[in-house]
Amino acid sequence: MEVHKFGGTSVSSEEGLRTLEASAASGNVLVVSALAGVTDALERFLHDACRGAADPDPIIDRHERFIAEHLEEDHREVREFLRQMRTILEGVAPVLEQLERPEDRLRDLVLSLGERASARLIAAYLRERGIPARAYDAWELGLITNDRPGNADIIRWEGTRSKLLRDLRAGRIPVVTGFIGRSERGHITTLGRGGSDYTATILAGILGTRALIWTDVDGIMTTDPDLTEARVVERLSYDEAMMAGASGAEVIHPKAVEAAKNLEVKILIGNSHTATVGTLISEKTEPGPKVVAAREDVALIQITGARMMDEPGVIGAVTTRLGDHDVNILALLTTASEPRINILIEEGEVDRAREALRHLDYECKVREDVGLVTVVGEGMSHQDVSTFLASCPGFELLGSAYGAVAVSVAVPREHTSRTARALAEALLG
Ligand code: ADP
Ligand code: ASP
Ligand code: MG
Repeated sequence: MEVHKFGGTSVSSEEGLRTLEASAASGNVLVVSALAGVTDALERFLHDACRGAADPDPIIDRHERFIAEHLEEDHREVREFLRQMRTILEGVAPVLEQLERPEDRLRDLVLSLGERASARLIAAYLRERGIPARAYDAWELGLITNDRPGNADIIRWEGTRSKLLRDLRAGRIPVVTGFIGRSERGHITTLGRGGSDYTATILAGILGTRALIWTDVDGIMTTDPDLTEARVVERLSYDEAMMAGASGAEVIHPKAVEAAKNLEVKILIGNSHTATVGTLISEKTEPGPKVVAAREDVALIQITGARMMDEPGVIGAVTTRLGDHDVNILALLTTASEPRINILIEEGEVDRAREALRHLDYECKVREDVGLVTVVGEGMSHQDVSTFLASCPGFELLGSAYGAVAVSVAVPREHTSRTARALAEALLG
């Protein structure tokens, strides 16, 4: 028995559903994401509702289409949930219209609907194919999160193991919602976009088994296959996979890897469309560069001032202010030449960062036209990356960070893909 997680495209395509059925028939615990595109559609719904233009129909229709394509019987649980989903969406719309942007708790409540619907659809799908299955909202299995909206952590589990084992012993396959949870105070929470992977590794830890992440590519690849030709990376260490996930390789969520490392869970990643498994994430790997990842949802805070070099505690003061305003620092980047502090943050946190640094005594510029390219690999030569970049014509480096498992470079955003491709071809080609 293992925990198998099926991502959006895997619960929405014929081939993916065949792999899912085979997995259930073998007696695994399933974790499911929302149907492909549904979480994005729910985000759009929230956005549109704030402008008085909410339309729940396309979201409900998407699920009706799954029913028409894959189910023959009438499943009361599915019908009732879709009715409830419509009621919630229609109910929150006038509230959202009064708000400038979605309130955090409402956002989590609305986004949670995608996984709750898909778990019920998939359980029904399996039952029609002769496999007894039961849908669970994560909290029904005793998973408890902290209260942080939009990016909650699973902090406790009560009776989860015995509930899952009871079902499995009775020959029933649990189909569990990924990505969502409920806090002790009873708030519905979400675990961060892409967070179904995290639910899966936590459940695998609870059961003392492996987690298999089924997705739409063969595994973690040398770089985003949409960017350039890429190969599967057969083995990655936890630290490498965590860094790859955090640096833009969205195929695996970094929180999933962190939980797997703590709970000693091995992660496999495979392609549900071809039923092949490509990557194993575990304790150790060979040294050397393995993955080039890129992300464009970042911004760079540049703090300059000649005085800064003589004054102690500047970095501390800046990071404390950012922390007080709930701004997460992704990296501190160095530049070769100027007396400057470069702080990389998420693009979505720029307004809070500006507010945090408003009264700082130094010149402070926020650049939003930035991309980050990261070469991941334990024990690789940092020199290889620097030498290669120095030899690239027309390459502009805004800052870099050298760590034990990665080298990251910030570049003008329009150069992100080009830089990632060039680095992948030079170092991993
Ligand atoms: P799922 O819906 O199954 O969770 P995701 O969209 O979250 O799937 O992750 C899979 C996608 O991650 C791939 O389709 C690919 O476009 C993207 N991706 C980015 N970088 C990488 C990489 N290095 N290796 C594999 N996939 C990557
Ligand atoms: N459905 C959620 C998302 O799109 C969670 C996931 O897919 O893992 O972010
Ligand atoms: Mg994902």
